[in-house]
Amino acid sequence: MGFFDDLSKKASETYKNTTEKTSKLTREMKLKSSINENKAKIEKIYAEIGKKVYEKHLREENIDIKADLIEECSKLDAYAKEIEDMRTEMLALKDLRICKGCATEIPVNAKFCPKCGTVQDEIQINTPMQQPAAPVQQPVAPVQEPATEIIVKDEGVVEINNNQPDNNQQ
Ligand SMILES: [Zn+2]
Repeated sequence: MGFFDDLSKKASETYKNTTEKTSKLTREMKLKSSINENKAKIEKIYAEIGKKVYEKHLREENIDIKADLIEECSKLDAYAKEIEDMRTEMLALKDLRICKGCATEIPVNAKFCPKCGTVQDEIQINTPMQQPAAPVQQPVAPVQEPATEIIVKDEGVVEINNNQPDNNQQ
């Protein structure tokens, strides 16, 4: 229990805190990048919907949302839900959450919103990244989804490597 023991204890605590911070940061970067991916997918679906609508117009047909656009709309719902979950997780990393009444960022453990007074639900942090909710009936081939590795460089430059082997393989 001498001076050097204390020193090495302090050093390992500092290391632990730094590691925790780094992994939070990495997680945040990964969430940000996944949110952006989902946004891009959503934009693409909007474009598909627009094209379908215009083609209907060209053929002088009416569009029936249920019949014609249900697939696109279901995908949009799924991607939007994923974004919401990822935003929740990102805020939780900073011990924050969104008030369900006024959408202000409030402390994660607040029972009431300090701004509008809305009672908050018990928060549930799930990790949507681990199991991307497959959007309805996606005809995409059984993708061997590579684990995405994000390398955080100086000044927040992010590099994404998609070359890791599938999780299922050992
Ligand atoms: Zn509020």
